[in-house]
Amino acid sequence: LDSRVPIVTPDTSAGAGAAPRTVRYANLDYAASAPALAAVAEAVTRALPLYASVHRGAGYLSQVSTALYEASRTAIGTFVGARTDDVVVITRNTTDALNLLAGCVPEGGTVLVLDLEHHANLLPWQRSAGGADVLALRPTVAETLRTLTSALATRNYTLLAVTGASNVTGEALPIDDVVELAHAAGVRVVVDGAQLLPHRAFSLASSGADYVTLSGHKLYAPYGAGALVGRRDWLDAGRPYLAGGGAVTNVTASSTTWEPAPQRHEGGSPNVIGALALGVAARELTAIGDDALRAHDAELRTRLVAGLEELDGVRTVALWSDSAEAVGEPVGVVTFALPGHDPGLVAAYLSAEHGVGVRDGRFCAHPLLSRLDLDAGALRASIGLGTTADDVDRLLAGVRAYLDEGPGAEYVVVNGRWQP
Ligand code: PMP
Repeated sequence: LDSRVPIVTPDTSAGAGAAPRTVRYANLDYAASAPALAAVAEAVTRALPLYASVHRGAGYLSQVSTALYEASRTAIGTFVGARTDDVVVITRNTTDALNLLAGCVPEGGTVLVLDLEHHANLLPWQRSAGGADVLALRPTVAETLRTLTSALATRNYTLLAVTGASNVTGEALPIDDVVELAHAAGVRVVVDGAQLLPHRAFSLASSGADYVTLSGHKLYAPYGAGALVGRRDWLDAGRPYLAGGGAVTNVTASSTTWEPAPQRHEGGSPNVIGALALGVAARELTAIGDDALRAHDAELRTRLVAGLEELDGVRTVALWSDSAEAVGEPVGVVTFALPGHDPGLVAAYLSAEHGVGVRDGRFCAHPLLSRLDLDAGALRASIGLGTTADDVDRLLAGVRAYLDEGPGAEYVVVNGRWQP
């Protein structure tokens, strides 16, 4: 990514009437969405003049589109280490995938979640028929695992929904251990992979997790395609998620025979291009490999956290005091606050005066931000494949300048956001 963005700081050497100054954009908001990889963009460009109705038409282009769509399904399954009898349902995103699964939890089933989850992995369970219990985190990973074990013993849960990596701090519980203790209690596990999968290889087969969900737009593919992958039985028996064409084997005026999963849940004309893009992104990330992803993340995350911790007036945020020893380096997502300063104003300043893009607010994780005493919101910088050390340094310099001098322009709130 090498786009230039306008900034408000005038170039004093350029004289009056000079064009607005621009700087290279420092994108530190990959955790929200990651721009498409070149291979993804190329595949989409090649497919755009060709796509046709999937699973319905006999025409040549329909056959090509169907083959591409199904090949992507296979690629997504491979990417998450699906077992041979797992199902890959292509969804719109993680939110869609978790809502779909919530509709397939057996009648009356109850769900256990921890209070660190993104709303997408909390609200579908809270409003499901059996409801959800929300367990409070403990100060260490070890204690949190112990509390989880006791909670699993107190009630007959059906499912444990847990994030693969926090969208606030990048930290995670050790998934293999979580799966082991849940399975020992007869409870299935769904891993919200939205933040984990852009940063780490993951395998359903080797972790033993029952389901995983993902979003294409966080995996360097465009919006509109994601997936739910996992055990067939619930997905075959569950209420069809989208009733419509393609989800049925036979319909009469009074009765319908539904297809098994995944077709059962994919009614309507599917997002062929989105699925294709996601499949290509999945193959690219596998080719880059876990080692390279980890090394890139670790280098830049360490630089970012060390730089923030050196600044007086910055508070960095962690869920557990023993994360790194217990689980290893968190993924490249870092939340911090400047106590006494409005995070929306700081984010607007970083964008307008430094060309640095970060996220501000409560990150769709209100219970967690509340537990962290950050009800007023915070700032989040997140690292992706296009992030450089220079991007990190630009952010650090911007935060330092804000703390030292404050905004150089006047800011007002327009439509709920600060603007110079
Ligand atoms: N879970 C986590 C951990 C996330 O970070 C996000 C996106 N911020 C989601 C779920 C929801 O993803 P989507 O908006 O793509 O459905």
